[in-house]
Amino acid sequence: MEKATRQHTKAHNQRLVLNKIYHTPKISRAGVARMTGLTRSTVSENVSELILEGLVAEIGHGKSAGGKPPILLDVVDDARQIIGIDLASGEFRGAIVNLRGAIQHRINLPVENRSGEMAFELVFNIIDQLVAKADTPLLGIGIGTPGLIDAGSGVVQNAVNLDWQNLPVADILKEHYLLPIFIANDSQLSALAEYNFGESHRVPNLMLIKIGRGVGAGVILNQQLHYGDGFGAGEIGHIKVEENGELCRCGNYGCLETRLSSRYIRWKAKELALKNNDSLLNQFAATQKEITNEDVLKAYQGGDPCVQNIVKEVGTRLGKALTYLVSFLDINRIVIAGSVSMFGDGLINPAIQELKAGTLSALSNNLEVHVSSLGEDIVILGSAGMVLQNELGIF
Ligand SMILES: [Zn+2]
Repeated sequence: MEKATRQHTKAHNQRLVLNKIYHTPKISRAGVARMTGLTRSTVSENVSELILEGLVAEIGHGKSAGGKPPILLDVVDDARQIIGIDLASGEFRGAIVNLRGAIQHRINLPVENRSGEMAFELVFNIIDQLVAKADTPLLGIGIGTPGLIDAGSGVVQNAVNLDWQNLPVADILKEHYLLPIFIANDSQLSALAEYNFGESHRVPNLMLIKIGRGVGAGVILNQQLHYGDGFGAGEIGHIKVEENGELCRCGNYGCLETRLSSRYIRWKAKELALKNNDSLLNQFAATQKEITNEDVLKAYQGGDPCVQNIVKEVGTRLGKALTYLVSFLDINRIVIAGSVSMFGDGLINPAIQELKAGTLSALSNNLEVHVSSLGEDIVILGSAGMVLQNELGIF
């Protein structure tokens, strides 16, 4: 028992030391001791082990404060690689990233309506290809997918788009690849990506709204990703916003998702374009079966009044949803991600207007709403962040 406690303390200290070095480049051993409260000998012992493992390196000398100049430390960014997988898009996306979230190799595979076992085979396929490309030891594999995911046990409770129910994804993949596997909801992981690698780096509280084919949110509270009691925190896409609304993928009617997603925007754009000869999409809508997100963006940028109205409408609806979330949590930093964020200020400005009109000024005065700069890599980076936190204690 005593031995177990000692080992536990040791592992805890090592994670503490590594986390400090990761976030404070060019720090000395004495600096780590000062900032962590650990003794200098404990820090030295742990730093020696981290150097042996190749995770930390001595990178030169700092200025002397009278005595010997201190040796500076940093994390070796390429000491390990992480595989991050995004199952939330129209295609499965995967990448190898280093310890700082730099993407080193990527693979996208078309899903082509595969679900159930066929979709799972595609997951094996993409991971196989990435594992073959790894050229330094792999720290683990992180996966982001829409749905209710028990991130603790790695069980997908329900992912409608993939037709997976109660599927122990982490266990199945662990057995096959003999690597640590972590899986969580894509919107939750997007918030983690923003916190770890985005412009909101280490902002203690932030809320991310991901609007693409689906709509979901992720919340960082006190520097921790908040999963909720049943891992469903942020499932805002299925809040009913309309009586007698449209049928949603979840089986209910009038969900927020049916009025906010990229699917809604494309549908509405086509409908309006067919009725309006002025619309840049008019000819297009009449001839083509499907309007893509890119077509809508092009029309928006070309000044199509129909599309501009839709984006404004969606932005206002987003702002309305945010009034509840912001009033409940009082979080200043709001980040918008997902394909619908491509409309930028056109989406955000009406959202901010609605948000300011619908909340106490004390809550909305310091709001910062912006589009994530992580783009299409956001779920991959969040997945990598989850591995980084679980395996090395870096967060
Ligand atoms: Zn729904």
